[in-house]
Amino acid sequence: MSRPGTTPGPLSLNTATVREQWSLAQCIEGCARHGIRGISPWRDKLAEYGTANAARHIREARLTVTGLCRGGMFPAADAAGRRAAIEDNKRAIDDAAALNAQCLVLVVGGMPQGSKDLAGARQQVQDGIAAVLEHARAAKVPLAIEPLHPIYAADRACVNTLAQALDICDALGSKAGDGHLGVAVDVYHVWWDPDLARQIARAGSRVLAFHICDWLVPTSDLLLDRGMMGDGVIDIPAIRGMVEDAGYRGFCEVEIMSANNWWRRDPDEVLRTCIERHRSVV
Ligand code: ZN
Repeated sequence: MSRPGTTPGPLSLNTATVREQWSLAQCIEGCARHGIRGISPWRDKLAEYGTANAARHIREARLTVTGLCRGGMFPAADAAGRRAAIEDNKRAIDDAAALNAQCLVLVVGGMPQGSKDLAGARQQVQDGIAAVLEHARAAKVPLAIEPLHPIYAADRACVNTLAQALDICDALGSKAGDGHLGVAVDVYHVWWDPDLARQIARAGSRVLAFHICDWLVPTSDLLLDRGMMGDGVIDIPAIRGMVEDAGYRGFCEVEIMSANNWWRRDPDEVLRTCIERHRSVV
């Protein structure tokens, strides 16, 4: 059931949704063909295509780049590793600027191998973001911290709630409306959070991106079994209502990593299904 009396923001395709089937060029053409107005590329496909080529193609197709996935991965076992991560994030910021992306999504990273110091990893994340913030500001690329579900705390992101992400924003001086540092709200990662409504309200204009998919029951793979909107247990319209009440007026970015289902289907069928579900259950 969609949110009564309201229409969701326009659909954007996070290219992970059809990454096994299509190159970035094919994703751009697919969006244009299906009337999808937004796209969010991943850096591996961007590197494959070449940033300048991709930027030109996306411009010609008149697509809005709702985000570049992804920067982050800040924690490392030693100073050299942390410096390398900072340099890599600066390159990601430059790519995002070249694409005129609305934000660079930060999947912040987990604990360095062999470490059990979760608090230390979280501090490294904050220090890493602090170290690239000026570069992002100069390039006019907002950084969107994406809290990930706690199952990924060890290996992908040790920032696991919106509250934590917003604490980092606060610590680094991002006031509501400043626009340089905020959060990506992905329903897959935050739907379970009892404090969700309050934290989204707290985020206000710092909600820089809204990612949609669904949580399947049962989930057969912790990374690659995300569901199509409407096939799981997330009340997506309720969360959309929260981000809109906070002032968000941007795209709904569909991001589905699904090794055994959607990655095996005809990508045109996947896009048609995304469009239909965006209308009916978001
Ligand atoms: Zn996401």
